[in-house]
Amino acid sequence: MDNKKDFLDQSFRDSVATISKEGKRNYITPQQPKGKLYDLRSYFSYLYLIIFFILPFIKIEGEPIFLFNILERKFIFFGVIFWPQDFFIFAIGFLTFLVFVILFTVAFGRLFCGWACPQTIFMEMVFRKFEYWIEGDAHQQRRLDAMSWNGEKIRKRGFKLLVFFSFSFLIANYFLAYIVGMDELLVLINEGVFLHFGTFSSLIIFTFVFFFVYLWFREQVCIIVCPYGRLQGVLLDKNSILVAYDYIRGEPRGKLSDKVEDKGDCVNCAACVRVCPTGIDIRNGTQLECVNCTACIDACDNIMDHIGKPRGLIRYASENNIAHKEKTTYTSRMKMYTVVLFSLITFLATLLISRDDVSVRIMRTAGQMYQRQEAQKISNLYNIKLANKTRKFIHLELKLENIEGEIKMVNAINIPKKSYYQTSFFVVLKTVQIKKRKTKINLGVYQDGKKIETITASFIGPFI
Ligand code: SF4
Ligand code: SF4
Repeated sequence: MDNKKDFLDQSFRDSVATISKEGKRNYITPQQPKGKLYDLRSYFSYLYLIIFFILPFIKIEGEPIFLFNILERKFIFFGVIFWPQDFFIFAIGFLTFLVFVILFTVAFGRLFCGWACPQTIFMEMVFRKFEYWIEGDAHQQRRLDAMSWNGEKIRKRGFKLLVFFSFSFLIANYFLAYIVGMDELLVLINEGVFLHFGTFSSLIIFTFVFFFVYLWFREQVCIIVCPYGRLQGVLLDKNSILVAYDYIRGEPRGKLSDKVEDKGDCVNCAACVRVCPTGIDIRNGTQLECVNCTACIDACDNIMDHIGKPRGLIRYASENNIAHKEKTTYTSRMKMYTVVLFSLITFLATLLISRDDVSVRIMRTAGQMYQRQEAQKISNLYNIKLANKTRKFIHLELKLENIEGEIKMVNAINIPKKSYYQTSFFVVLKTVQIKKRKTKINLGVYQDGKKIETITASFIGPFI
């Protein structure tokens, strides 16, 4: 441990910023950040919000580009429809995403939380901005809090509740649009509440959940609920890049006027603490509560400009970067994750490329033995279940591959686009061909004259 770190008071570990001494919730009222990074994050979040609100309207061949219909087990990613039959691809896709997240976190810490997490974007860039607009900055909010319920307080608080609820309702609608599709949502809206009471109830529940989260629960989502936040302890190491305080340069801290020997650059102004949405002091080191929102970087840079010191006392840096002035390195841990990630990406790409347009399952009809037919023939009845994963109509044919015989379809295999289909068919063989009780038959599945799959089934004959 570096000597400089010994200056740090460890008493912060005895308490949680969002819990008071009495065990009650400490409601954090951060000051509005101002600075280059806050502006950049604002622009980034506007882009993110535009994409979020536009995506449900974008379609490919009449289908949304993204859909997460858990109820009907239908998922669309970048216009490609996935079915429950593609579960394996899903599982590998999820695993790939997980390894990507791990690698990204090992290298860049919680960069995602600060810049791209929907919770941070909606909280800090939408609801918090509404709050600053309606109630003013932190000190004005605290003043309003302390006021008795006079006209000003009722007006401001009432308006805030109305704006928060309306926006929560809007997000809930979009949330639903990502599940059922925008077209379906518009149909539900047009047909009215009474015809779709279940869906409307879900919409209201979503609305109240968002309202509760953004009005009251806020940073607790990141601190208590988010599993990603809790994983940081095992994922981060001394080479991970985080929002960090340069204690080598900053300590020993003290006011400009303080007569401290070898005084560091931190003037102990607490500007970095005042802007923190999770209420922590970054000078205490990396903490679970830090969502890497960069507000403290901006706050400290402004102070440094003011006192004529170089910016970057709080900056994106790794522990080794600060303590030993080491450059950021591509560690062997990162290399190992990269190898795993590329192997998974290759496997996933192979699965996606070789993914069938149609999934076919053939089973002998349960409870049926064999049927004797005219002209010394025997038949077996089979069920065929199909899923057309494409946006086009598909016609299939079956052919016997390894034995002479006939296939008599109950219905032709015409599968409408994006649909499940099932029918039955008979396989008819001559009795002389049957040498044992179970004969293996290969059924070729043909689409437009081209074989797409061979399925093996058993043909039951008389007991010989
Ligand atoms: S410590 Fe800094 S980066 Fe971390 S949450 Fe607080 S303000 Fe954001
Ligand atoms: S804003 Fe900078 S100077 Fe002020 S207390 Fe924080 S680290 Fe120290």
